[in-house]
Amino acid sequence: MKFTLLLLLPAWLASGVTLLNACQTSASDQTTSASRSVADDTPPGGRRVVKTDAEWKKILTADQYAVLREHGTERAGSSPLNEIHQHGTFYCAGCHNPLFSSDTKFESGTGWPSFYTPIAKNAVKEDRDVSYGMTRTEISCNVCGGHLGHVFNDGPKPTGLRYCMNGVAMTFEKK
Ligand SMILES: [Zn+2]
Repeated sequence: MKFTLLLLLPAWLASGVTLLNACQTSASDQTTSASRSVADDTPPGGRRVVKTDAEWKKILTADQYAVLREHGTERAGSSPLNEIHQHGTFYCAGCHNPLFSSDTKFESGTGWPSFYTPIAKNAVKEDRDVSYGMTRTEISCNVCGGHLGHVFNDGPKPTGLRYCMNGVAMTFEKK
């Protein structure tokens, strides 16, 4: 019975997060280059964080849960992290895994915090995502598996990549 109720009332229904307008502003159907090196599967320090849904709900806000654990997408322009231009590090909001350096953040104009490379190759993992009639590359935290966003190949130099992230899935700490 509990399971049925959870299916009928997913957390994103009650939150400000929608599952539909996923990071698709520009070049949404492009896939990333197959020649790009595949991320190392081993997370930083061999660290893994595994929790039950109930445990995640205890430590995450409803919007964080909807994005990180249910693959939701925050409303474009809604994250305060868009406006951050200080030096520092962006961490996974679920497990505090360092994800991106402010040095690689750029203004993509999409309304989502955007970076051209993760802080370390194995900080994130990539998966093919064919939801909503698009083929995209999903980016998740390589420590806790939390959904972060997608990567597209229309980014700036030096990588040409655009890591389109949900700000609500991250925290920022100044250097
Ligand atoms: Zn994480």
